[in-house]
Amino acid sequence: MAPVPVRHVFLQGADKEMRSPNIFWGRRKHVSAFSGLLSLGLVVGSIFLTLFLHISLEHFGGSIWVSITEPLFVQSPLVFILRYLPAVSTGPVLGYAGWVAVQAMLYTVVPGKVVHGPPTPGGHSHAYLINGLLCWFLTLCCFALAGYLGGVSVIASVARDWGALLVVANIYGLITAVLAYVKAHVSPTFGRDRRFSAFMAKQYETFGSISNSMVAVTLFHAIYTIDFFANEDWYLPLTNAAWYLSTIDIALDHFGFCLGWGPAAWLPMIYTCQAQYLALYPTQLPWGIFSILLTAGLAGYILFRLSNYEKQILRGSGSNHFIESRQRVIRAQYATGSGDVHESQLLYSGCWGIVRHPNYVGDIIFSFCTCLTCGWNHILPYIYFIYMTCLLVHRSHRDEKRCSTKYGAYWEEYKRLVPWRMVPGIF
Ligand code: NDP
Repeated sequence: MAPVPVRHVFLQGADKEMRSPNIFWGRRKHVSAFSGLLSLGLVVGSIFLTLFLHISLEHFGGSIWVSITEPLFVQSPLVFILRYLPAVSTGPVLGYAGWVAVQAMLYTVVPGKVVHGPPTPGGHSHAYLINGLLCWFLTLCCFALAGYLGGVSVIASVARDWGALLVVANIYGLITAVLAYVKAHVSPTFGRDRRFSAFMAKQYETFGSISNSMVAVTLFHAIYTIDFFANEDWYLPLTNAAWYLSTIDIALDHFGFCLGWGPAAWLPMIYTCQAQYLALYPTQLPWGIFSILLTAGLAGYILFRLSNYEKQILRGSGSNHFIESRQRVIRAQYATGSGDVHESQLLYSGCWGIVRHPNYVGDIIFSFCTCLTCGWNHILPYIYFIYMTCLLVHRSHRDEKRCSTKYGAYWEEYKRLVPWRMVPGIF
């Protein structure tokens, strides 16, 4: 098929910016003592939050208020921690070590495509083995087999030992992050995610039935997980990289506390907290509400996927004549530290013509619907939505700062064409 002409905007006179590029593209060169302390506070606070939320769910009926007032007014914080911090025994340690070993083995032996990330600010391109979907499917098969041979209680054991597993995951994640920092300093190369739910099994084991809210949450989690792995290897010829490798987590952020500790402890606790809540405090939604929630959640997901898809089409992976023929773009240039000048495209039609971060908006709607399945009794299950909103709003600022430094006048032109960041007329 003949290539589809794309309408675009060229900017004149932006080449001055190309000659003196800021190759850090949003990465800080100097970090103030205040920023350092703030980051340290976030690291320590995030670790405490994962454990605190578990304690709140297990011992205080899911009430954040009661679990905050207890250590402040009823007993001292130290007594609180010593009393409620989950005890770690050999079983969870071995179980977690086995999980990590099996995932490492799968990653190593399961075949997949090797793809490259987009150019880093220094002009390098990293190679990645993309076999996540197959590894995830094989992991699910192992759990299904274990459930078939050992019964529901084998699967529910993950949820029963969740507190101890969380402590082990925190330690593992911290060790990973520290090793990453050490490696980055001792042997830098120039300068990866997994998620699961055994809480439906625990709800069934405890109450003898599965609530419709648990079905909705599990469905949302399954959609998000499968979507992630299915789209992990979409190849984007223009950036010469797979989609996931072009996301900010991989293309910009260094591998450290966030990517080392996060997938080990933060994701399993925060992203599954609605399922954890429902396993202990089941909610049966009226079927009308259930249908509205499912529809709204799927609408959020469609916005998230469609906007990412539009960008993927633009950047060259797959073809969709209908979408391609209607796309309007700014042809932008940027330079890397090696001195090479590259061309990229900024889309200002479709979802990207309404707001500058439509994929974030879809993600936030989707996360809100996931939390709504837990009802309104407690704020705790909404931690995921609150976190996603803070993360993505903050990220939109961070990304725009990066794009502004990377694309200069081209980015200013995009902001002129699409003035709203996330909500038209408001923000
Ligand atoms: P984006 O996929 O929006 O990537 C931002 C990059 O896209 C920019 O740096 C720029 O990169 C390019 N870009 C920006 N505007 C345009 C445009 N108009 N046209 C073409 N390219 C543009 O963000 P993320 O990488 O942060 O997130 C990817 C997805 O992952 C999102 O849907 C987000 O919601 C989701 N997400 C989920 C998280 C979770 O934990 N569940 C966490 C974070 C994100 P370039 O340099 O290539 O031009």
